[in-house]
Amino acid sequence: MTFQPDGSVSSYSDPQDHLLAAGWLSAAHPFDQGATGEPSEHELFCDRLFAACRSNVVAKMRGYHFCEFCGPEAVRDAAAPSGWRVLDIVEERNGLKAWLGNGEVRVTEPSGIRWTAPTMIYHYVVAHSYRPPRDFVEGVLRGTFDPPATI
Ligand SMILES: [Zn+2]
Repeated sequence: MTFQPDGSVSSYSDPQDHLLAAGWLSAAHPFDQGATGEPSEHELFCDRLFAACRSNVVAKMRGYHFCEFCGPEAVRDAAAPSGWRVLDIVEERNGLKAWLGNGEVRVTEPSGIRWTAPTMIYHYVVAHSYRPPRDFVEGVLRGTFDPPATI
């Protein structure tokens, strides 16, 4: 995944869309860490973000990206050309599973400002204590997610 600074205009999408980037992390760049708010607000943020990364995926890509911080975890797979296959990032919450790393979620703040984040952002939050920009957190808590892409 290509690094984009938090809060910068996303270079992955049409500049006219003016989407701000959140969670486009890279192992080469430090990132903010910590809870996004009081424990109950952090839980609500994680619940809403997980639901969106599971059900509101847009800009889907072929294949999956692995987490640069965990590194690729490979398993033997006779069907793969190399004989090995990199495991997908799968997160569970409240008994549901989400396969992360193959698309984006987009959220519009009540003010109209729009954000785009890779679905991997949920993994970064729960596994690596990543703390997204405050305005993105507000958007997730009070804003509206784009509907899922149909292709
Ligand atoms: Zn990771």
